[in-house]
Amino acid sequence: MTIDIQKLRLEGIYPQRQKEFHMQRVKLAAGIISSDQALKVAQISERYARGLVHLTTRGSIELHWLTLEDLAPVAAQLASVGLVNRGACGGAVRGVVCGSLSNVAAPELEALARRIHRHFTGNPRFENLPKKFKVGIEADTASGRHLIQDVGLVIAGSEEGKNRFDVYCAGGLGREPQPGFLLAEGVAEESLLPLIETIARLYRENTPPPKRLKYFVRQIGEQAFREMVFAQPGVFDELPIAPTLSARLVPVPQEEARLVARVFAGELSCHTLATLAGIARDYCGGQLMVTGDQNIEMHLVSAEQRTLALQLLGEAGFAAESPRERVTFRVCPGNHECIMGLAPTREISGELLDAMGPAAQGMTWAISGCPNCCAQPQLSKAGVVANRLVKEEGSEERTPRYDLYQADSGPFAEAVKQGLTREELVEAVRQLG
Ligand code: SF4
Repeated sequence: MTIDIQKLRLEGIYPQRQKEFHMQRVKLAAGIISSDQALKVAQISERYARGLVHLTTRGSIELHWLTLEDLAPVAAQLASVGLVNRGACGGAVRGVVCGSLSNVAAPELEALARRIHRHFTGNPRFENLPKKFKVGIEADTASGRHLIQDVGLVIAGSEEGKNRFDVYCAGGLGREPQPGFLLAEGVAEESLLPLIETIARLYRENTPPPKRLKYFVRQIGEQAFREMVFAQPGVFDELPIAPTLSARLVPVPQEEARLVARVFAGELSCHTLATLAGIARDYCGGQLMVTGDQNIEMHLVSAEQRTLALQLLGEAGFAAESPRERVTFRVCPGNHECIMGLAPTREISGELLDAMGPAAQGMTWAISGCPNCCAQPQLSKAGVVANRLVKEEGSEERTPRYDLYQADSGPFAEAVKQGLTREELVEAVRQLG
């Protein structure tokens, strides 16, 4: 069978930096995966993906190192446990993220994420978009994640058991970061699907590929875009939400019921994933959550089992003893596997952690291997972006230069030092204390 890889982006497949290999992304609603599914991913990884699994900052899973021949059997095995690749890459509505899985409202937010995911995944009306279209749901605005979505939904209150949402729009990072703006306040949950459909359709009809929605909104202005959206027929139709018994899968979290496996650089072995799947099956209602910080969170069904579960987590390598297990440090695949990558992000994040003093360890960190900023460095207290390659004097070798970002009062962290060599970057981080 001849496979045109370019046409398989909608199936979540990207060519890898190493030309003979490919990446398969698995799209999870709110980052949630069952223990049976996680076990299957671990088995697939062991057989086809060098035994490694990468967790993304959007709560998805990536398997690297797949050959062309591996793609069909891997897709079939993922599908056999109900895992979805459709729309994980390419011009589609991507995996719906939820950054508030430990919030008391998590089950409702997760149920909404699942509904949006189900509505748009594989829907041909929304598979020919100019570029990716990202939807995120949050319980509040503290993380700033609602600002980096094409559509960011934030709970704005509840009336008679029904949630209302503030809707932010046209955000994004990358080379031209743009915080989303408040498009509409207090939208009834029943109207969210028609509203998101309307925004996605206007995006498709008015934006040249490969631009994001933020480009179109910049062209016409926020108010004009708002008027355009509000003028569309049916934009605020209310679609009834039928009751379902399976919409809320995650046990309601209490602080002492939360378990977090902090995964260094978002990369874990198939054996570790299988162990976590076993803990989730035995103690956490059979559900794992891939968080936006590339960790795995699980909620104990009974907080009384916390001591035992923590011991099992420790035995699995998550005893939270070293900075690698304690410091939040989002890391994209960089030039280890990504075709766009300029720098070895995992290697450098390890070096930076070794150089950090207590003050730097107390910050949240992120490193992106190119200006696409998939690790979301602008949402961290401190971040690093490999910005360009520079030819060294008297040598053919081109080495990366890095920008160091720090958060201030604005919505996004900004570059405070630019064009650093690797050594200068390490030194700058050391000086943060
Ligand atoms: S930031 Fe760049 S290097 Fe990192 S995953 Fe995204 S595209 Fe690849």
